[in-house]
Amino acid sequence: MRKLIGIDLGGTTVKFAILTEKGEIQQKWSIETDIRNEGNNIIPSIVESINHRLNIYGLSANDFLGIGMGSPGTVDRENGTVIGAYNLNWSTLKPVKELIEAGTGIPFYIDNDANAAALGESWKGAGEGGADVVFITLGTGVGGGVIAEGNLIHGRGSAGEIGHIIVDPNGYRCTCGNHGCLETVASATGIVRLARDLSEKFAGESELKWFIDDGQEVTSKTVFELAKQEDRLAAIVVDKFYFYLGLACANIANILNPEAIVIGGGVSAAGEMLLKGVEENFHKFAFPQVKTSTEIKLAQLGNDAGVIGAASLVSHARKRY
Ligand code: ZN
Repeated sequence: MRKLIGIDLGGTTVKFAILTEKGEIQQKWSIETDIRNEGNNIIPSIVESINHRLNIYGLSANDFLGIGMGSPGTVDRENGTVIGAYNLNWSTLKPVKELIEAGTGIPFYIDNDANAAALGESWKGAGEGGADVVFITLGTGVGGGVIAEGNLIHGRGSAGEIGHIIVDPNGYRCTCGNHGCLETVASATGIVRLARDLSEKFAGESELKWFIDDGQEVTSKTVFELAKQEDRLAAIVVDKFYFYLGLACANIANILNPEAIVIGGGVSAAGEMLLKGVEENFHKFAFPQVKTSTEIKLAQLGNDAGVIGAASLVSHARKRY
C-alpha cells in the first residue's frame, strides 16, 4: 500500500510524518525553519529533508501517493503558492508546489495550517470519522477550520475565519481592523489583555492583580492556573473568556450543527475546566435542537494534528479530481 507524507510548516519548526493511507503515523521528524534569506531556504531544506529520510528508510517517490502541507499565510490551493506568511519571512509569492514536486518527484497538495489541523482532528482525533466537524485553535491568534458533509469548506477562500467572529461590537480593536473579534479576547494574548483591563476595575484581594500591578509577566497559563486556585480576579477573567467562546460556538453551531466543535491550540491546555466553562455558555446561547446534538470537545492530537491533517489533503484532493 502506498504511503502519505504530511508536513506542518510553522515559524519555528517544520514537522514531517510518513503515514499509511489510513492515517497511522509510521515515522515522524522535524527540522528548524530557516527563515533567513527572505525565507528562500525553507523549501530547499524541506526537499532535502524528505529526500534524506526516504534514502534512510529505503523508500522512493513511487512508494507515495502524495505530500500534503499545512502552511501559514494566504494559500492558493490550485496553483500551490503561498503569499503573506510573515512568520516565515514570505512576503512575496512562493511557488511551493512547483519546487517540492520538482525536488521530490511526488505529487503535492497544500492548504492553510488551521484547515489542515481541522482535517487531522476530524480524521483521527476528537472528531474521529465525523463528516461535520468545526475546529477552533486558540494560540497566539484564533484560527479555525470547517468540515461540512465531509468536505473542508473554503468559500471564496476565507471561510472558517472563526477568529474574526465579532463577539463584542464595542470591544478591542483587532488586527483585521474591526472591533471585538473573538481573537481579541480568546487568544493567549487576548486573555492577558482581558486580565489587565479587568484588573484596573477590580478592588478585592487577588494574586493575579498583584502580579499585574507588580509588573510581573502574566500569561494565559497564569490566568487559568490562578482561576483553578479560585483567585477572584482570575475567575472573573476566565468567566468572561468562557462567555465569548461559548457565544461564538453557539453561533457557529446554529449555522452548521456539526457533530463536534473541537477546541485545540495552546490555550486549550487548560483542559476540562475550560471545556466546562465554554459548554455552560454554549448551552445558554445555542438553539434547543442544536445544543442537544452538537458536542463541544477538546482536541486530542496536540502537535500531530497538523501533519495528520496535511497528509489527508492528498486523499481529499484525489477524491476531487
Ligand atoms: Zn478581526
